[in-house]
Amino acid sequence: MSLLFHVEHPFSQPMLYFDHNATAPLSPAARAAWLEAQELFPGNPASTHWAGRRAEAALETSRAWLAGWLGCGDADLVFTSGATEAANAVFAHLAHSAGRTAGVMVSAVEHPCVLEAAERWFPSRVVRLPVLSGGVLDLDAASGLLRGGFNAGRPAAVALMAANNETGVIQPWAALRDLCRERDIPFICDATQWVGRLPAEGLGECAFLFASGHKSGAPVGTGFLKVPRGFTGLLSGGDQEDGRRAGTQNVAGAAGLVAALRECEGLLDGVPARLEMRGEAERLLLEALPGGRIVGAGVERLWNTVSLLAPELADCRQRWVVRLDATGVAGSSGSACASGREQSSHVLRAMGVGAGESDRVLRLSSGWGTSLEDWRGVAERMAAVFERWR
Ligand code: PLP
Repeated sequence: MSLLFHVEHPFSQPMLYFDHNATAPLSPAARAAWLEAQELFPGNPASTHWAGRRAEAALETSRAWLAGWLGCGDADLVFTSGATEAANAVFAHLAHSAGRTAGVMVSAVEHPCVLEAAERWFPSRVVRLPVLSGGVLDLDAASGLLRGGFNAGRPAAVALMAANNETGVIQPWAALRDLCRERDIPFICDATQWVGRLPAEGLGECAFLFASGHKSGAPVGTGFLKVPRGFTGLLSGGDQEDGRRAGTQNVAGAAGLVAALRECEGLLDGVPARLEMRGEAERLLLEALPGGRIVGAGVERLWNTVSLLAPELADCRQRWVVRLDATGVAGSSGSACASGREQSSHVLRAMGVGAGESDRVLRLSSGWGTSLEDWRGVAERMAAVFERWR
């Protein structure tokens, strides 16, 4: 029984949660690690007394695991509150360290935290790298642009996410990372939707790498950023994290983050079965919705994400996501990070999906605990909505 909250349950059928790409439920392992660390290490890691030293040691244990898992040095890692903070810190750092005329290249389908931070710190000096119709970066075009340079000079950095949050489309981040390395250009990778779902191998070789923890079962407000030497950071007022991120460190959050990622790591053998489940789920959904189609069908996508272009409802103001919500299914009409702002998706636009169609795109994102029965439940409820409102 909650002391603080009243939790509504207005549905006659079980609620189905299909919005893991926005936030996944806290994993039991993360919960246990968080609680344990919170109780065992009440001190501030910056304090010099025994409690502070213990907290600092706990934080460094988490950092060491994360560094080993990513394949980078402990000193390369900064704990953050998530990906948005990290992206802003990266572009701020680049703007201070690059020449005044330098620009950056970012893929057209990055999360707004990358696109908007890039625009903020490099106004009018951002080149958007195009994607092909399946949503995958056009590597030939990117490589041509890299060769051609930017404003007659080298870009200060190039950014490509590992996997897209709206469509689940997997990007050729390792190939672009290597192209950048050959040219000595820093490569930035937003791995927020990748970590916890696919192997971490190679991620630590990106010059800048970041992710939020809460898409893979870690507590909200946790994340990490991998940086090269000399990184300055955005926050001032303390020398925590080697002066790269001021503010009291979140010891328990870091423990929860590591516990969640370790747990996911142990589940990775299940990826082929999960891909099969996604295939079956898509079959059920398309059967329920004649005329629907899968966005990004035919290209490699995350096992957990289905982006579905649903058929039109009779009243076009009746959005699919709202109708489904009324049946107890939590999905998303695109990036939930836009805090309910209804905007046409830049990702779908970059993929050539028309404005009239992108309103009907529904993102269903599952987790390791989602079953085929859950997907079947969504398909049945979608069929019922379609029957009623078509
Ligand atoms: N990057 C990607 C790919 C995301 O999916 C998200 C959130 O959905 C973010 C960055 C921002 O993460 P946060 O809101 O946790 O900072």
